[in-house]
Amino acid sequence: MLKLGYHVSISGGISNAFDYSKEINCTTMQIFIGSPRIWSVQKISTEEKNKFLIKSKNTKIEPVFVHMPYLPNLASPKEDVYKKSVETLSIIVKECAALKIEYVVVHLGSGLGEGKEKAIDRVVNAVSSVKSEKNGVFVLLENQAGQKNSVGSTLEDLKEIYDKIHSSEVGFCIDTCHLFAAGYDVRKTETAKLIDDKLGFENIKLIHLNDAKYELGSGRDRHECIGLGNIGIDGFKSFFSYKKFLGLNFILETPHSSKEQELNELKTVREILL
Ligand code: ZN
Ligand code: MN
Ligand code: MN
Repeated sequence: MLKLGYHVSISGGISNAFDYSKEINCTTMQIFIGSPRIWSVQKISTEEKNKFLIKSKNTKIEPVFVHMPYLPNLASPKEDVYKKSVETLSIIVKECAALKIEYVVVHLGSGLGEGKEKAIDRVVNAVSSVKSEKNGVFVLLENQAGQKNSVGSTLEDLKEIYDKIHSSEVGFCIDTCHLFAAGYDVRKTETAKLIDDKLGFENIKLIHLNDAKYELGSGRDRHECIGLGNIGIDGFKSFFSYKKFLGLNFILETPHSSKEQELNELKTVREILL
């Protein structure tokens, strides 16, 4: 069965995400817990947690992925920002354990010009400290779009970070838009093979399936709907002719304003992947 879903809204409570995902026939989903653009992670009430656990069982939508909010920066050279970022990740991972959510997706942040190796060390220390104890929650390192000073835009950097963290509860999330923006030509099967070789298939737990608004190597993190961007339907077909990847989980983070658009896009994606 194809594991396909959207990043869905949690407005009205995190458990509502299951209802919407069910409504659009999805088999997995991604959510934020709390607002993505504020620092503090709001407490989720026991009642809401219970609702979430019950709906998780009933809908069988799994796995669920939680995306870390955008403000934390796990590579920040600013002591206070760094500390707060690690705390935020730690809170999220604990909340996920309580909600029986297996995966948290993290961006690796920006070294703000302080140099790559230092930035990598900070990310490694951040994730290592959060994962010093096993609790069944994987931290997934997401490849970045090649923005200035961003950490983790190349497969080599991602693998270096992964190896240095040295935890069995760490893996990768591969975003197709970010790959393309960082200069990896997603329209080619060889690129899929390259990712497999460099990262190790068994470590990849999730594909963020997004088309790219800008050209190859643009360094800009702007997603486009599947088929409407520079990767295009034929590009995706060629990438996923590397059949091994079809068994992975797929989450769409494309810009939409209606359910109809999403249903149409899901149809397109199924045509590409099935
Ligand atoms: Zn992301
Ligand atoms: Mn992504
Ligand atoms: Mn992005």
